[in-house]
Order: sequence, then C-alpha cells, then structure tokens
Amino acid sequence: MTSAPEKTVLDVAREQVLERGVGLSQEQILEVLRLGDDQLTDLLELAHEVRMRWCGPEVEVEGIISLKTGGCPEDCHFCSQSGRFPTPVRSAWLDIPGLVKAARQTRDTGATEFCIVAAVRGPDKRLLGQVREGIKAIREDGNDIQIACSLGMLTQEQVDELVEMGVHRYNHNLETAKSHFANVVTTHTWDERWETLRMIREAGMEVCCGGIIGMGETVEQRAEFAAQLAELNPDECTMNFLIPQPGTPYENYEVVEGKDALRTVAAFRLAMPRPLIRFSGGRELTFGDLGTKQGMLGGINAIIVGNYLTNLGRSADQDLEMLEELNMPVKAISDVL
Ligand code: SF4
Repeated sequence: MTSAPEKTVLDVAREQVLERGVGLSQEQILEVLRLGDDQLTDLLELAHEVRMRWCGPEVEVEGIISLKTGGCPEDCHFCSQSGRFPTPVRSAWLDIPGLVKAARQTRDTGATEFCIVAAVRGPDKRLLGQVREGIKAIREDGNDIQIACSLGMLTQEQVDELVEMGVHRYNHNLETAKSHFANVVTTHTWDERWETLRMIREAGMEVCCGGIIGMGETVEQRAEFAAQLAELNPDECTMNFLIPQPGTPYENYEVVEGKDALRTVAAFRLAMPRPLIRFSGGRELTFGDLGTKQGMLGGINAIIVGNYLTNLGRSADQDLEMLEELNMPVKAISDVL
C-alpha cells in the first residue's frame, strides 16, 4: 500500500488560511519564504485568493504628505531624513495652505486616506499644534478625507490628543524583526515602538504598522518579523522595500530581487489574512511596472499614490489606471466611514 503524498506548505495554507482565516505560524512563514521560484506562481495565486476571500476586491488608496522633513535626531540606518547622516535631505516644514492643497489633491484622486508624516522621534507641542491647525483647515476646506498621522513615538497624553483631533489611524512601523532591530536603530528600541502601538490600539485608533524588507535581515528574521506583525494584528500593514539612500549606512545595500520581494509579499499575506497590506516605498525600484501588478495579484490591497516622502513614486493616474485594468475598485469613502 502506498501512503498519501505529504502535504506541502501551500496545501496546509489553503486549508488553514484560505478556508479558516488563520494566519501562518512563524515556522510556516519560513517554509513559504524558502519555496523555490518554480512555486512562486502558485504561491501568489493562493495569496490573492486569501486577500479576495478575507478582504474583498477593493483597494484602499492613500496620499501621504510630509509636514516636517529631515533633521530627525534618530539614527535609523535606512533613513535619509536622519540628521545624523550626510544625506542630501534638508530640514523643512510645510505650511498649512500647502497641507490643505495636498489633502485636496489626494481627495481628488479618489483616495480615502491622507497621512500626515513628520520626521521626528516624537511630536513636540509645535508639531501637534500644526497638526491640529492643519486638520481644522482641511475640514474647513470641505474635505472629508480620513486623516492618519505618523509622528513617531507618543506619550499617552499625545495619543489622547490625536484621538480628540479626529485622527482615526496612526502609522508607526516596527521596521524589522525584534532580533534585528538593534542593528538598524540604536537611538530607541523595538519595545518603545511596540509601546506606542499598544497605546494607539487601546485608545481606539486604527493601527498601521509595517517595515522595510532588505535591511540585511536573514530569511529567518523575515519570518520572525511577519509573525510579530501578525501578533500585533494591525488594521494595516505597510510593506516597504529598501531604497538604498545616498549618505546613509545602507547606501550600498542591494535592492531586494523582484521574485524574492513577491514571495515576501505573499508570505506576509498568508501570515495576515485580514489587514490591509499596503505597497509603500521601493516598489518601483524592486518590481518595476510588471511586478507592481503581480503584487496586486499576490496579496496587496492598498497603495500609496504620488510621492513617497523623499522618493518620487509613480503618478496617481498610472496607479488608478492599473487598478481599473485589474478590475479592482478603489475603496470609496462611504465604505470606510
Ligand atoms: S525616526 Fe523616522 S524620520 Fe527619524 S530617522 Fe527614524 S525613520 Fe527616519
């Protein structure tokens, strides 16, 4: 008598993640990350099915604007906005009319989310005052877009203040696996970041958290990171691929190879069946046009249009055309309110 063939990790994922909505464990994620290129198509198809089953066909579109650029005191080794590295980025503030205009342009693309970002360790009184004034001015402009913020680490008082301003989602990335974090950042800890995320969740804001792939982490650490994010269970997970920035310690790092990046995207989807998974920085460099489409068919269901802070993204029109071609409707604001 011959025994039944052993189940592959994709068979297991089909039953566990697709049918039951239970994300893969760290060991299972690692197995997926080790699949060969010959299984990539099957993997992407499964990740797409999982996304369609648990999230639906809509794509959330977000615009992002930098309120305060550069001159950050922290030393995140990937970041061109750190004031500690000789990068070409100079410190600058955006004024309120500029913010209102960017929010209006974002709304006009059909985006439902507008994220206000600042390069800081955490916000001070001046920055929070600007955010408050900015949100008020956006609303006075008749713009009902949802506001998200990314302003670094927060105190409980600041969390409460943001809730009171009507900020509904907060982005704070864990950036990489806990075991790798100290190699990437020395001026604060992974646990400090986790603490901010805990406060955001408890205050009732949506949690947006992700990181950057390609910062010298091992494949085991990629699996560890996906499992740690799954444990956090964010409303949105933002996936970036390293863009080696001139002047930073990572300026000579290799860009993540396209197939490897797609495999990682799909593995993260199988780890987290329900959250939005957003393609953020680095997708053009890593994937080009074709790969972006493959990613959208491999588990991604949210994108950022226009600029990604210090790197030019594609134009909003190009992305919206791509979504139309893929038959993926942009999530309407009435669906999210
Ligand atoms: S805290 Fe943010 S802005 Fe500052 S160096 Fe790190 S990633 Fe860059």
